[in-house]
Parts: sequence; structure tokens; C-alpha cells
Amino acid sequence: MKKDLEQKLFNDFPKMFPNVFKAGYPPVGLQIEDGWFALIYKLCADLETEAKRVEMSDAMWPRVIQCKEKFGTLRFNVANDIGNPQFDEEPSVFGRLFEIIEVAEEHCKTICADCGAPGKLYREQAWRVHCKSCEVIYQRELGER
Ligand SMILES: [Zn+2]
Repeated sequence: MKKDLEQKLFNDFPKMFPNVFKAGYPPVGLQIEDGWFALIYKLCADLETEAKRVEMSDAMWPRVIQCKEKFGTLRFNVANDIGNPQFDEEPSVFGRLFEIIEVAEEHCKTICADCGAPGKLYREQAWRVHCKSCEVIYQRELGER
């Protein structure tokens, strides 16, 4: 993702992107293309709205630990300062947050990862979500290799 887009997420959701994510060694960053920026932005906003609604403490606040593309689709993982709630035995207040993330991970299959236009998941060769135009470019570049 372009640095200025990434920076906008860091600026607008400072609690969700702690320093370790932004400046770790090496910095992890968002390992996705620009086409999903709006999706990620809305996802972060929705997660914070829910965290505020249930009056989540700072220690519980969702922190992004991974945001990447795998098998063509989005993988977005959060934890908090207490631990990794994904491994909690008790159903936690994080349950609703995971539902919100699941919706976004499903939604990404209809958004071109490169440009954000409506797209679909292509499953031959490397899996990817592309609109028709980006797929044409992709195929042309594949042919040139
Ligand atoms: Zn596209």
C-alpha cells in the first residue's frame, strides 16, 4: 500500500495501529495493494465504533497485528494488550469485532485489490481479486515474463 494511504490509516486510527506495527524491525505495514484502502478504512471505523459502543478499555482496544493478502483475499488480525483474544476460551466482547472482520474479509472478494473497482476472485495461477481492466494488465504482464 502507498505510504500516504497507510499514513492516513495510522493518523485516523492511532490506537489501532500501535508503534510496533508502524516501526517494528522490520516494520510490518499493510501488506496489501491500494484497491482495498476504502474497505480497510471502513473496517477500522466500524471496529472503533463497536469498541466505543461497548466502552472498551484501552487495554482491550483492538490492535492490528496483521493486514495482508493471502490466496487472493484479505487476512486482517487484531489482538489487544491483554493477549490474543482469538484463543480465549470464554466468548469475549471481541466476538462482535471478529464478525465485523469476517464481513470485510468476505467483501474483499468483490473489490479489485489493485484499483478498488468492482472485481472478482480469479483462481487460476496466483489467486487474486481483479476488475476486468486490472486483469487484462495482469495477463499481459504474465505473457511478457
Ligand atoms: Zn482494478
